[in-house]
Amino acid sequence: MNTRKIKAGNRSQQATEERGVVILLTGNGKGKSSSAFGMAMRCLGYGLKVGIVQFIKGKQLSGEEIFIREKHPEVFFHQMATGFTWESEDREADIAAAEEAWAQAVKLLQDSSYHLVILDELTYMLSYKYLDEETILKALRERPEQQSVVITGRGGGEALREFADTVSEIQDIKHAFRAGVKARKGVDF
Ligand code: ATP
Ligand code: MG
Repeated sequence: MNTRKIKAGNRSQQATEERGVVILLTGNGKGKSSSAFGMAMRCLGYGLKVGIVQFIKGKQLSGEEIFIREKHPEVFFHQMATGFTWESEDREADIAAAEEAWAQAVKLLQDSSYHLVILDELTYMLSYKYLDEETILKALRERPEQQSVVITGRGGGEALREFADTVSEIQDIKHAFRAGVKARKGVDF
């Protein structure tokens, strides 16, 4: 245990690069979007600029959305307007909505004043082939050097995993929902 701690310490001491990173939070377990919003909170603590694009419009208004819109209007917040929800059946409308949301993301990815860009549930746009993988990777590659990007969602494909600097896969061990517990305000949305 002690040896392990020392080793981890040494590794971080060797880190010398100062640049933004791409973080992919994936897997079937709960905790991807809430972790991304946790990083937004960290940035806000330091007065750093944050931009958020949500690629899926949840059925439920989320606490994060209320908090940002009401308490932090300086945060750029865009939610995919109409179109794709979990039950959508209109592919053309979904693609149009995805492209419109992506256009907002591109603006953030070209603006070096944003310290952190969150692309929440972006992976589904790749799995459903609503957005082009190479276009996304190119925009990430060409972003400002000091900008970090957090991408959340299940799946997303090998190329994105390969490209990201940090990849965490949250495992679904159990979820209260399957034991019949209703989604809770402040916990699930
Ligand atoms: P959170 O926003 O809570 O961090 P997430 O981003 O990891 O969750 P999503 O797939 O985006 O997960 O789903 C969001 C909603 O679905 C949340 O209300 C969450 O509690 C719920 N959820 C996430 N994973 C599971 C699961 N494995 N089983 C049931 N419900 C889940
Ligand atoms: Mg999520």
